[in-house]
Amino acid sequence: MLISWRLEITTCPLIFQVKIAMTDVVSPAVRSKMMSGIGGKNTKPEMLVRKALFRRGFRYRLHDKRYPGRPDIVLPRYKAFILVHGCFWHGHGCHLFKWPSTRPEFWTEKITRNRERDAEQLAKHLANGFRVLTIWECALKGRPEPEQEQVFDMIVDWVKSGAKNSSIAADPTHLGIALKSDSEHYKR
Ligand SMILES: [Zn+2]
Repeated sequence: MLISWRLEITTCPLIFQVKIAMTDVVSPAVRSKMMSGIGGKNTKPEMLVRKALFRRGFRYRLHDKRYPGRPDIVLPRYKAFILVHGCFWHGHGCHLFKWPSTRPEFWTEKITRNRERDAEQLAKHLANGFRVLTIWECALKGRPEPEQEQVFDMIVDWVKSGAKNSSIAADPTHLGIALKSDSEHYKR
């Protein structure tokens, strides 16, 4: 039964046409990025950060509707937001980001709009008195494979610090992970 069902699907002209149409729109590399970033919430890097914080005893709210952009992780006790950004969708200038060669206008407009929205929301969070840590996907994945436990330690240090606006990302010059902060309160 199963074999005949499979045969019906693979020989169905409609399915075949759909596959052809999708191939025309975006390259496999771009589609893979699109699939991994759908919705922008509960992504793999975000889940890694959530689990690490939980293991270390932190409790948080997720995607809280009360705040602009529904921040990924809200730590009310620390008045802190943690945002986990996919490097492709948020246009990070790192080794994980590359402009797609297909439909350049579409992608330029989309990613530029995402970056503008990020900047607006960050400004609102800071103006509302929240501290913000942006964790870029490249801090947790890529080659060489980042030391994730080290990144989680950095995150915990930041939560307990007084730093206002910081980010953690791959540091291309030192082949490691770097935390950047505009606050003098934070020193590692
Ligand atoms: Zn990145």
